[in-house]
Amino acid sequence: MGVGRTLFLKASDSKWLREHGTKAPFVRRAVSKFMPGESFDDMLVAARAMSVEGIGAVFTRLGENVTDLAEAEAVARHYLEGIDRVAHQAGLSCEPSIKLTQLGLDVDRELAFGHLRALAARTHQAGNYLWIDMEQSGYVDVTLDLTRRLRAEFPRIGVCLQAYLFRTREDLAGVMGRGIGVRLVKGAYNEPATVAFPKKSDVDANYLALAQAMLAPGAGIGGARPVFGTHDITLIDTIRRHATAVNVAPAEYEFHMLYGIQRAAQLRLAHDGAALRVLIAYGDYWFPWYMRRLAERPANVWFVARSLFR
Ligand SMILES: Cc1cc2nc3c(=O)[nH]c(=O)nc-3n(C[C@H](O)[C@H](O)[C@H](O)COP(=O)(O)OP(=O)(O)OC[C@H]3O[C@@H](n4cnc5c(N)ncnc54)[C@H](O)[C@@H]3O)c2cc1C
Repeated sequence: MGVGRTLFLKASDSKWLREHGTKAPFVRRAVSKFMPGESFDDMLVAARAMSVEGIGAVFTRLGENVTDLAEAEAVARHYLEGIDRVAHQAGLSCEPSIKLTQLGLDVDRELAFGHLRALAARTHQAGNYLWIDMEQSGYVDVTLDLTRRLRAEFPRIGVCLQAYLFRTREDLAGVMGRGIGVRLVKGAYNEPATVAFPKKSDVDANYLALAQAMLAPGAGIGGARPVFGTHDITLIDTIRRHATAVNVAPAEYEFHMLYGIQRAAQLRLAHDGAALRVLIAYGDYWFPWYMRRLAERPANVWFVARSLFR
C-alpha cells in the first residue's frame, strides 16, 4: 500500500485534525465534491436529480464509533425519520445504509442491535431495503452475526463485504446462502497484512473472483442481491462481459458508486441500461470519511489544493 494512502488513513483517526481541519473553508469547499450538503434535504435534492437520470440512490448520514448512547439513539431516530420521508417521495428509490458503530455498537451490542432491528422493521414496512456498511476488520464477525439475525426476521437486508480481506471468500458463501444481499467493495480502511492483501493488484484480482462467484448460477437464491460497489471501470466492464457470458441479465445485478466520483461513467452506465445507484453521504461528521476518499486517490489532494485558491 502507498505511503500516501497510509498517511490519509492515519489522519482519518486523528481527533485533532478532525476538530481543526473541518473548520478550514478550503477543506469544506473541497469536500463538497463528494457531498451535496450536510442535511437530509440536501441529500434528497441530489437523489431526485439522480432519479431523473435513471440512477437510484442510497443514503447515509456520516458518523462512526459513537460512544454516547443518547447520540446513538438520535442517529437511529434520524434514520427512522429519513426512511419515512423517503417513503413519502413519490417515485424515488433511495435505500438507507448504516454503520453499526454509529448505533452504539462499541458500547452496547444488544442496544445497537435493538436500533438496527427498529430500522429494519421500518424499512420493511416502507417496502424499502436496508444496507449495513462494513467497518474495520475487527468488526466483521459482529457485523455478519447481527446481519444474519436480522435476515432471519426481515427479507430485504444487505451487507457490505470487502475484497481486500482474506476471509471474504468464505464469508461470501455464508452470507449469500442465507439470502442476504452483498455490496462488494475493495475496502477503505488501513488493515494489517495478516488479514488483508497488501498489494492493490491482489485486491483487484480477488474482487473479480468474488464478483464471478456472486454471479454464479444459484448464488442469488432467496433474495441475495449481487451489488458491485466500485468505480473501477476496467473491473466494471469485465464484470458486465462476464455476466453476459453466463447469461445473467443486467437487471439481475447492480453497480453502486459514490456521489461525485466517476460522474461520466455513472451516466454512461445508466444510459447503457445497467442498474446503478449512487451512495449519497451527508451530515457534519465527514472528516474521517473524507480522509478515506483522499486515500483512495492521491489526485484528490490536488483538488483540495486547487480549492485553496478558489
Ligand atoms: C457504494 C459504495 C459503498 C461503499 N461502502 C463501503 C463500506 O461499507 N466499507 C468499506 O470498507 N468501503 C466501502 N466503500 C469504499 C470502497 O471500499 C473503496 O475504498 C472505494 O470504492 C474505492 O475503490 P474502487 O473500487 O472504486 O477502486 P479503485 O481502484 O480505488 O479506484 C478505481 C478508480 O476509481 C476512481 N476513484 C476511486 N476512488 C476515488 C476517489 N475517492 N476520488 C476520485 N476518484 C476515485 C479513480 O479513477 C480510480 O482510478 C464503498 C464504496 C462504494 C462505491
